Amino acid sequence: MDGGDRPAIGSPAEPISRTCKAPGCGKDISHKRRGAFFCDSNCKSDYHNHEAAEARSAAPDPAKLPIPDTAELASELRARGLITYEEEEARDLRAIGLGVMRLAGIDPKEIKA
Ligand SMILES: [Zn+2]
Repeated sequence: MDGGDRPAIGSPAEPISRTCKAPGCGKDISHKRRGAFFCDSNCKSDYHNHEAAEARSAAPDPAKLPIPDTAELASELRARGLITYEEEEARDLRAIGLGVMRLAGIDPKEIKA
């Protein structure tokens, strides 16, 4: 034996295992037409219902969306003690603006003058 009975790796003759894509089904559908993904229409609708449910559960949680720049800026300014926690929470643009000015070493009074 020289191992010649092993299937050639990547052989195009190797049949692709085709099973129903419906969750929990997995029936062999090799006899079905090319491009078929399900053993029957029930499985097809099960699968799509499942997908829709997945999509719903995968919908982004607004609280977990990327932090807008303003919030990042406010967070940075608060970390540096340039605005208060309340101002950060309120996304107080005036406070954020003043914080940026302080960060830049600009005296807000100079702007007002
Ligand atoms: Zn099925």
